[in-house]
Amino acid sequence: MKLDIIPCLNDNYSYLIKDNNSGIVAIIDPSEYGPCENIINQKYKKLDFILNTHHHFDHVGGNKELKKKYRSKVLGFEKDKERIPEIDILLKKDQEFKIGDLNFKTLFVPGHTSGHIAFHLKKEKILFTGDTLFSLGCGRLFEGTHKQMFDSLKKFKSLPIETKIYCGHEYTKNNLAFCLKFNPNNNNLKDREKIIDKMIIKKKPTIPSTIKDEIETNIFLRYDDQDVRNTLNLKKASDLEIFIRLRDLKDNF
Ligand code: ZN
Ligand code: FE
Repeated sequence: MKLDIIPCLNDNYSYLIKDNNSGIVAIIDPSEYGPCENIINQKYKKLDFILNTHHHFDHVGGNKELKKKYRSKVLGFEKDKERIPEIDILLKKDQEFKIGDLNFKTLFVPGHTSGHIAFHLKKEKILFTGDTLFSLGCGRLFEGTHKQMFDSLKKFKSLPIETKIYCGHEYTKNNLAFCLKFNPNNNNLKDREKIIDKMIIKKKPTIPSTIKDEIETNIFLRYDDQDVRNTLNLKKASDLEIFIRLRDLKDNF
């Protein structure tokens, strides 16, 4: 398969994928028409499917115009059918579906919104996480509970560690600063800081990361790390309590 990262709006990423066997082309979370249309027009000349992780405008903003121009079909979570513009195909929790010869699975991961889904390509070891898991961070809780987000992230944690993460935003720099503040003795994190700094200087996307990177360095997956617990002064708290404290601190960081 082929994958293009499309920077959109201020800090969003949309993703174009092409299944080489069938020639089918799909886009994940088209934030806006212009930049997406540019690449489609230059390289693909068609768009068969539009996949949405959730209903926020910065993930569905291109749906209407792209669908109109390319007669694409829009896929989204069934319970968000009133909120995802131009939706055609309703996806259920843990539904498997095909885009050409690519086998996708919908993972239901509420927290950021009540109907948030992620798209998993098991064979290709690729995960599109939307605004649930970011590189070194996780999404804000707009509609869901801490527990929902905690469980959603756990779902990701259980995937093969080499799985590549393609997320909805370039928030890595700010996320890194937060992780460093509350997990200052994490050597993997310090190593990653050097790599990320280089990418940011070159103005390159800091994605994809991997499940392994995130387990080793993303503080929202590291509630069992003694260094994090010491820094928070919450040595005996439950994993969920640590996660709640971190998520709340991040809201005001
Ligand atoms: Zn969002
Ligand atoms: Fe977003």
